[in-house]
Amino acid sequence: MDSVGVAAAAPDAGPGPAWQSKCPWGAPSTASISCSLADVMSEQLAKELQLEEENAAFPEVVAAAEGPFITGENIDTSSDLMLAQMLQMEFDREYDAQLRREEKKINGDSKVSISFENYRKVHPYDSDSSEDEVDWQDTRHDPYRADKPTTTPRRGFIGKGKDITTKHDEVVCGRKNTARMENFAPEFQVGDGIGMDLKLSNQVFNALKQHAYSEERRSARLHEKKEHSTAEKAVDPKTRLLLYKMVNSGMLETITGCISTGKESVVFHAYGGNSATEDKVIPPECAIKVFKTTLNEFKNRDKYIKDDYRFKDRFSKLNPRKIIRMWAEKEMHNLTRMQNAGIPCPQVVILKKHVLVMSFIGQDQVPAPKLKDVTLSSEDMKKAYYQILNMMQQLYRKCNLVHADLSEYNMLWHDGKVWLIDVSQSVEPTHPHGLEFLFRDCRNVSQFFQKGGVAEALNERELFNAVSGLNITADNEVDFQAEIEALEKMNEDHVQNHGKKLSTFSSDGDPPIYDE
Ligand code: ADP
Ligand code: MN
Repeated sequence: MDSVGVAAAAPDAGPGPAWQSKCPWGAPSTASISCSLADVMSEQLAKELQLEEENAAFPEVVAAAEGPFITGENIDTSSDLMLAQMLQMEFDREYDAQLRREEKKINGDSKVSISFENYRKVHPYDSDSSEDEVDWQDTRHDPYRADKPTTTPRRGFIGKGKDITTKHDEVVCGRKNTARMENFAPEFQVGDGIGMDLKLSNQVFNALKQHAYSEERRSARLHEKKEHSTAEKAVDPKTRLLLYKMVNSGMLETITGCISTGKESVVFHAYGGNSATEDKVIPPECAIKVFKTTLNEFKNRDKYIKDDYRFKDRFSKLNPRKIIRMWAEKEMHNLTRMQNAGIPCPQVVILKKHVLVMSFIGQDQVPAPKLKDVTLSSEDMKKAYYQILNMMQQLYRKCNLVHADLSEYNMLWHDGKVWLIDVSQSVEPTHPHGLEFLFRDCRNVSQFFQKGGVAEALNERELFNAVSGLNITADNEVDFQAEIEALEKMNEDHVQNHGKKLSTFSSDGDPPIYDE
């Protein structure tokens, strides 16, 4: 049943209370409305359409509001108004609570916050404007829309006889359309139209609406793209939040800028803070290594970690994000081992997810140069060589590690000595490919120093034996490599048969350790 019929057929509605003249909900002061069948028919159609629209948006509220009409109970329009106000109040309360939740969600811990204050409900019945009293039904469709007077009453028409004004009235519709422009995204410029008595035809409004929506989608796409590109150059929002928290907690003083963007990580410089929560002293300058959460590059590094028994059990169960965290974790553990063995390397400050904070090698925001970028005197070159030989031995024997990416790119020259960095991929020698990685490291080091004019530099095979303590006698690279692989296979077979690795590769007597 529709309310139009009920209202129009209410024969007992006498002269209403004073507010009735203002309230379009109020029954018309005459007992009957004379309007043509065609008017009623079209009005009913309009009513149905409106109901459909409303039911889709707010089914319960509409049902409750319709209640008195439908049951035909003898509830006068003043209690209907009250009911409406109560519903409105309830709606506003929920709506404001939701706003507060959203506000909180968006602002989080941020020092700079945004407020939705302007979007909070102004209760129509709190307002002086009597026109506002009919407004709430339209405003509830859009929680971000401030109250606007509209002139279409609940029944869909006002006036009587020839003066009847339906909601299809051009002027009414036009104003309503103008008011509806506020539903568009906030970025969408609607100019002064809303404030003026502007009447938009349905056609114009619909075209505008279409445009507004496509603009909104476009802006969302643009935004996404922007986020993506900054994530590639620097970091994604989640990482930014992590970094921000580090500064906020006082652990870091400031993050000054980016030192390096590699394939797998982005490194930042930061000044250490004086956080009391950490039991260790924060270095005055820190390097923050952010492991990239874009996965493509990490896929080809699987082999380093998949077969590392320390991570073996966990690997299979992990999702890609967790694997990346494991890289960070691996770097932390390896650096700690190196630190304990007295190898010059960054000192771990803290690990948070995929973000590793360590001491900065360099000074005043200037990172120490890589060995490949620095020109050393022949004396320093020779000194560096022996130092590296010694570090490789310590790494292998004391730390039980093979760097696995050792080259002039991952060695920094600082304070007159070489510092090792970038050890996330380092593995234990008994890793299925550990000896191959070591051999590759030895080749890089040997070639660099031989080219750099260090006459004493061992060739890669000699260096390999000197570091590992193995005594592989092959005098050419191919055979040498074959022997290495045979050793690895032997180790793997041992794992198969005994369920554990050899503690170390056997050799006939360790060669001397090179001291600096
Ligand atoms: P990647 O895996 O991207 O090569 P690295 O650990 O090698 O990551 O770091 C990249 C670059 O960042 C290094 O070549 C070095 O210049 C700089 N860097 C990394 N860690 C530090 C540090 N602790 N102190 C100074 N510079 C660093
Ligand atoms: Mn590197």
